[in-house]
Amino acid sequence: MREIQHFINGKLVAGTSGRTLDVYNPSTGEVQAKSPLASADEVRSAIDAAQKAFPAWSAVNPQRRARVMFKFKDLLEQNMDDLAALLSSEHGKVLADAKGDVQRGLEVIEFACGIPHLLKGEYTQGAGPGIDMYSMRQPLGVVAGITPFNFPAMIPMWMFGVAVACGNTFVCKPSEKDPSVPVRLAELFMEAGGPEGVLNVVTGDKEAVDTILTDPRVKAVSFVGSSAIAQYIYETGAANGKRVQAMGGAKNHAIIMPDADLDRVVDDLIGAGYGSAGERCMAIPVAVPVTKAVGDELVKRLIPRVEELRVGPSTDPDADFGPMVTAEHRAKVLGYVDIGVKEGADLVVDGRGFSLQGYEDGFYMGGCLFDNVTTKMDIYKEEIFGPVLSIARADDFEQAIAMPSTHQYGNGVAIYTRDGDAAREFADRVNVGMVGINVPIPVPLAYHTFGGWKRSAFGDTNQHGPEGVKFYTKLKTVTSRWPTGVREGSSFVIPTMK
Ligand code: NAD
Repeated sequence: MREIQHFINGKLVAGTSGRTLDVYNPSTGEVQAKSPLASADEVRSAIDAAQKAFPAWSAVNPQRRARVMFKFKDLLEQNMDDLAALLSSEHGKVLADAKGDVQRGLEVIEFACGIPHLLKGEYTQGAGPGIDMYSMRQPLGVVAGITPFNFPAMIPMWMFGVAVACGNTFVCKPSEKDPSVPVRLAELFMEAGGPEGVLNVVTGDKEAVDTILTDPRVKAVSFVGSSAIAQYIYETGAANGKRVQAMGGAKNHAIIMPDADLDRVVDDLIGAGYGSAGERCMAIPVAVPVTKAVGDELVKRLIPRVEELRVGPSTDPDADFGPMVTAEHRAKVLGYVDIGVKEGADLVVDGRGFSLQGYEDGFYMGGCLFDNVTTKMDIYKEEIFGPVLSIARADDFEQAIAMPSTHQYGNGVAIYTRDGDAAREFADRVNVGMVGINVPIPVPLAYHTFGGWKRSAFGDTNQHGPEGVKFYTKLKTVTSRWPTGVREGSSFVIPTMK
């Protein structure tokens, strides 16, 4: 059985804790590897390595650090096929989607290639007599990232791509369910010229996370995962004096106004609702048609499309989506479908009994479609994270905008309309962090920034883009005066510009 290894101080290192977790191939249901669950000592050895590497790496000038990022980006492109294959074999998303996962991470590396420009401070000449003021952004030191299973390439790169380019050193604790890609990324970063100790990956569970959260040498923690854990990370990290950004769960709504292009809406809902088996924090699990007529027509058109969805192994180029990540996760999603039926929602397409010939042990389920879901139901209130789309109907715009605005999550939302006024008003008023206008998955590009509101994000700085640079640096402001030949004597009054 293949044993996945940690990547510490520039080397693959076998786990020594004696604890491991099975890593599956979700397409076949077979255990394909063991993921080591790091002990506190193993995590500390990664932090030691990062601490040791920090003085030299932070002293490398930004242009040279950028050259490492350029080379790393080239290596990602050269290794795209292998990375995508490894990723989909552990996660279960289809190959084309796995490539998208690597590509979206690569785009953050492209952003990080501009780090010399991004780190430029501000300067005021002549702020007072002989006085100049300037600011600089300095790296924090050792920083850490804790990542979820659903984007094993993109999300680690959201974090370490920006962090190491800023001059920090990094400890990544990826999801224990599919940790091979993050380890491989660290190897490629070394190959690109990243010095040993700058980027470390330790695979593990709560013990590893708690060691990161309590070690005083770790200055900042970035987290992406479910909301309960995000809140725990935020509170524990902050109580231990760290800077923390912690992204949580989601329940993204698509509002469909009566003037929307319904053909396009149906295409987009199928892709955003069922792509990656719904295991995306920017999936659309709730569609809100406005007016009964729009709802009836939408459901009529969606039913055959959901029935026709092609579910297959992640290697099947014709599959729309693959299996769920684990049998346990599939059981949770199926449990929600049962709850929805009990709560009285209409299950108009039932994918619970789906089985794939030749792959009976894989973690598959078919697409499900609920109609007449209400805001009181648990299947509306909670994140399901599977191939389940709910239709929650609204009578008018006000009722529709209230739904995502009052929901506990506020990651993404979309509105479909041809009416510029309605779209503009929606974008202005909706209480959600990322908005799509006729765009189903409004994931901002790397040079913008990613982050939701309410229980979808704890902390106040988003991922990547200029906000990422802010998160991974501290601002220093210098006020300087060079002798002007005039002595003013001591002053006991606060200096002002009066
Ligand atoms: P998860 O919360 O189970 O795990 C995330 C990380 O936390 C993993 O590295 C895991 O090892 C660690 N962890 C789990 N339990 C822990 C505990 N008790 N104490 C300390 N650490 C713990 O999330 P997941 O199932 O891997 O990922 C899916 C979730 O991530 C969904 O809720 C999804 O919405 C969310 N997500 C959010 C975003 C976003 O940007 N908002 C992006 C992707 C995924």
